[in-house]
Parts: sequence; structure tokens; C-alpha cells
Amino acid sequence: MQWTKEADKAISRVPFFVRKRVRKRVEEEARSAGAKEVRLDHVRSSQQKFLENMESEVRGYRIENCFSPGGCPNRAVEDNDLVNRLEKLASGKNLKAFLKKKVSGPLKIHHEFRMVVSDCPNACSRPQIVDVGIIGAWKPRVTDETCSDCGACLESCKEGAITLAESVPIIDEDRCLFCGQCIQACPTGTISGADRGYRVLLGGKLGRHPQLGKELPGIYSQNEVLGIVDRSLNHFMEYNEKGERFGEILNRTGVEAIIPKFCQSGRSMVAGSDGCRI
Ligand code: SF4
Ligand code: SF4
Ligand code: SF4
Repeated sequence: MQWTKEADKAISRVPFFVRKRVRKRVEEEARSAGAKEVRLDHVRSSQQKFLENMESEVRGYRIENCFSPGGCPNRAVEDNDLVNRLEKLASGKNLKAFLKKKVSGPLKIHHEFRMVVSDCPNACSRPQIVDVGIIGAWKPRVTDETCSDCGACLESCKEGAITLAESVPIIDEDRCLFCGQCIQACPTGTISGADRGYRVLLGGKLGRHPQLGKELPGIYSQNEVLGIVDRSLNHFMEYNEKGERFGEILNRTGVEAIIPKFCQSGRSMVAGSDGCRI
């Protein structure tokens, strides 16, 4: 369907990861009005209807993904199943009914428990500012394969985390974001893949008192991520007083209340590999 310039400009202000959904809704609005193209008044009336019926739109939770499943070459994980499993997990918690009891007045979208998956550290879907943010991670390791000194790894690393010392790559783990680009760039296998999974951030939010999610130490498998999310949802429901955001609850209770035991070795270790499991 054609869009006028004004309508297109208005929709371009919608955050990109929900824009497709909003565009579809506006096009339905235009079609039901018998229009052949989408105009600004269709955008406005669709927005008005959304605001008036917001409570019916609230599901209690929301899960968003980056564009990775469409085939993004930057993805650090090749796993299209996580969002479906998160959806199944969250839908079993009856969060809308729970929030209805906690929130005085009509439910709004910002009351929902939000989860976001980005399949690489570019974080296009903004996992840092939601209740649970999940970021694809692929940790590199240096093997015994002979390095050809080609320099491809140095070029691929946007963090400047790699140096070459006499044809041996050295990776600075404090700088590395586990994007996996150097693994893909290395032609000799001198840099190869180690742990592959997800980083997890809890308690991010915008609003009056914005804060970034706190990153848990480690790279987690899909099952471990689901375990963390399950605990997070239970914690959210147990300690919620009046519909406040997960980040506010964690500010009161601490993250440790959800995940009591972590690997001592920090975020570059896979949980469980040194004996502690979530
Ligand atoms: S977060 Fe990474 S994998 Fe996802 S769309 Fe952005 S660049 Fe691609
Ligand atoms: S995985 Fe780490 S070292 Fe390799 S390119 Fe990404 S940030 Fe650099
Ligand atoms: S990409 Fe691989 S072969 Fe090339 S310099 Fe880096 S480690 Fe050596």
C-alpha cells in the first residue's frame, strides 16, 4: 500500500523494532476507511484508537527480537527458537491478570514485563532498557593452529581487543564483547569459537528514573536463559507491590535474591563450568 510523505515521516518516529507492527495496524485503518493510500489522518486515528483501547492491547508481557532471524550477518548465535520458548514461558504466568490486581486504574503498555533479544552486541533491539535483556554472545579462544599474520582478526574487532605478538593473537577479555566476528574472520582457525550463548541483563528501564539493566556474569545456554527468566518472572510477581517495574524491585531486593549463586570467575565463564549452576 502507498504511503504519503507525511504519513511515512510520522511512522518513522516509531521505534524501529515495533515499526512493522504499527505500520500494519495503520494500513488496516486506512483500508477499513476505504482509502487507497495511507495518509497522516490514518496514522493519527490509529494512534487515537490505540490510546483509547490500550488495556485491551496489554498482554502482561512483551517479547521483541532484533532483525537477526531475517538473516543478519552479524548474529553471534544461530538460534531461532529462544523467542518462541520465552513466549511459551511467559504466557503460562498469567501476567495480565496478576498486573490487573496490582495496578490501580487501567493497565497500560508500560506495565508489561518486557523482554528483548538481540542476537549480537550491536543490540539493535535495545536490551539494556528492558526488564530482561538478552544478547547473543560467541566467545573466541586462541588455539595452537599456526597464525598466518594476515591481520583479519585485527580488522574485524571493533573493540581493539586483539593484539598480535610474534604471530600469536592475544585477546583482551575486558574489552571483548563476544561478538564472534574474529572467529569468522580467522582463516587458519588460530582464533576459534569457545562458549556460544547469551549474556543476560536484568532490571533495565526508561521512565522517570531510567537505568540500564545489570549484566549477570557469564554466557548462558538457551536453557539457562529460560531458567533465569523463569526465576525473574516469579520474583517480579512475588515482590511486586503496585505494578512497579522489575528494575525497581531489584533495586530493593538485589539480583542475588533471584540467582543466589554465580560462578566466581566472572562474565567470561559459562555458568556451571566451575561447579556453580543456576
Ligand atoms: S542486534 Fe546484531 S544480529 Fe541483531 S539485527 Fe542488530 S546487528 Fe543484526
Ligand atoms: S569476539 Fe571479542 S575479540 Fe573477537 S571481534 Fe568480537 S569483540 Fe573483538
Ligand atoms: S585472523 Fe587468524 S591467521 Fe589472521 S592474524 Fe588473526 S589469528 Fe592470525
